[in-house]
Amino acid sequence: MHHPIVPENSEICVYYGEELARYGFGHGHPFGPDRLDAFWQEVQRQGLDHAASVRAPVVADEASIGRFHTPEYIARVKAQSITGEGFLDYGDTPAFPGVYEAASTVVGTVLDAVNRIMDGQCRRALVPIAGLHHGRRDSAAGFCVFNDCGVAIECLLQEHSLARVAYVDIDAHHGDGVFYAFEDNPAVIFADIHEDGHHLYPGTGHRSETGSGAAKGTKLNLPVPPGADDGLFMEQWPLVEDLLRRHKPQFVLLQCGADSLAGDPITHLRLTQAAHAHAAERLCALADELCDGRLLAMGGGGYNRRNLALAWSAVLSAFVHAPAEGKEG
Ligand SMILES: [Zn+2]
Repeated sequence: MHHPIVPENSEICVYYGEELARYGFGHGHPFGPDRLDAFWQEVQRQGLDHAASVRAPVVADEASIGRFHTPEYIARVKAQSITGEGFLDYGDTPAFPGVYEAASTVVGTVLDAVNRIMDGQCRRALVPIAGLHHGRRDSAAGFCVFNDCGVAIECLLQEHSLARVAYVDIDAHHGDGVFYAFEDNPAVIFADIHEDGHHLYPGTGHRSETGSGAAKGTKLNLPVPPGADDGLFMEQWPLVEDLLRRHKPQFVLLQCGADSLAGDPITHLRLTQAAHAHAAERLCALADELCDGRLLAMGGGGYNRRNLALAWSAVLSAFVHAPAEGKEG
């Protein structure tokens, strides 16, 4: 394996550590704690752990989580984290002992990546166990306790004072927790390619949903039918690039859920990791063009272990191998 020497301002970060794997709902569950190691074995096989900076998970403080979530909901997660009993939503997302700490670690790790990218210590980053895009401000949903994507967006807007942040989502499921939280916010440029809601949870993300009020036109929902393959994905993809070019974000987030690959046990799309590689390569180029390369990927869903290993490694490989344009004169 060759290990490219990356310039200081081009450092690529990937997060790995047992604390991050703790976010899971038990062995045998689709969202089990074995997902991180399935990814990591492939990273090591491809030698990507030597090409990127491997960073440790970080726990978020309550104030940061509160940038997106309500105090009542945070208190509820804390209380149920002690008992480990009951559900954090209508019955998809069970509590477990330590769920507050585990969910806080997902958020804190994403925020660590956000801060390093904003500081210029790091150019691009991937947090594999993250991208919990169904979480609502006041409730869990679809295996998502705290919505790290939403917290990251709020922190970029409030703490880092950015005027425009892009969120691109290629998970099989619609990123409803992000979409509806920012539906009327023109600062959030949202693009989501997902399995049509007529066939899959959460049932939302129709083409007509383009944002409301002042945010009209800042959101792009691209549902694709069950069985959609890489060809169909590539047909839709240029629309994502057009949206970003039109709105010139200052930071790009990618939710690269691997449940859109053929063979996922709970969805019906037929993509391959080539789609994830393409999205990651193109967003590297776009982020270089529009916002000094600032790009952060969050792993998202993916319940076939082989698929998530291949899809997330394809994203990390693209991040490591993309040229760092605009920094070399
Ligand atoms: Zn998903």
